[in-house]
Amino acid sequence: MRECDRSLSKRGLERMSRANVGRIDAGLLDDLGRRVVEVARGLFENKLVVSTFGVVSTRIPNTEYVLITPSGFSKARLDKDNLIIVDLDANLVEGKFRPSVETPMHTHIHKRRPDLSTVIHTHSPMACAFAAANMDIPCVSAEQAFYLGGRVPLVRKYSLPGTNKPSELESIVRSLRDVNVVLMRKHGVVVVGKTPEEALDTAIVVEDVATIAFHSIMLSKPREFTRKELNYLRDFKATRYGQKPSVF
Ligand SMILES: [Zn+2]
Repeated sequence: MRECDRSLSKRGLERMSRANVGRIDAGLLDDLGRRVVEVARGLFENKLVVSTFGVVSTRIPNTEYVLITPSGFSKARLDKDNLIIVDLDANLVEGKFRPSVETPMHTHIHKRRPDLSTVIHTHSPMACAFAAANMDIPCVSAEQAFYLGGRVPLVRKYSLPGTNKPSELESIVRSLRDVNVVLMRKHGVVVVGKTPEEALDTAIVVEDVATIAFHSIMLSKPREFTRKELNYLRDFKATRYGQKPSVF
């Protein structure tokens, strides 16, 4: 991926428009950038990432482009002008810095899952402990059963950080077919969401349920939720939890 010395300038946006991929509204891009930065800071503040680790990417609506965090930046000090635009093949389109080394994984997920807006990658420690031990996070807490609907599975294939091997990227996508979060063996967590904020919320819950599962395994042999119980909780959540839309 080549580096580019242009920022997300008006000229750059016009250039992308000329590329016949749909016009990007500058206000929309500005708002999306602000939300990505807030979510990235949220990862840091919730101790889901340290140092320069972690990645946030979000699809720019109605385009073939993705806004992604740069490589080697602390998520605590990120500014929206530091963000990068890449296309769905991980080519740099616009930005002052190199995009995350995990860009191929992010763009592959965005390409294969246009129903999603956001992909987050963290190294949150309790979830990573399960990933390092080559274990799914077993579904032993009501929080996990209710929020995630079951186990947090390992991606079937092992891959090194920064992989761009199609079979490994496809393995990650396949593992995400029925869940919003998966564990990369010996590495970290991949969360997807319909908004940046939803993906952050899931990333926070994943670390919470991993902590509960870890401690329950230390204390005893916890029993996992059954499929029948999970189905009950799914219906319960759909019909009885939260407020009716008319309340807001
Ligand atoms: Zn990583």
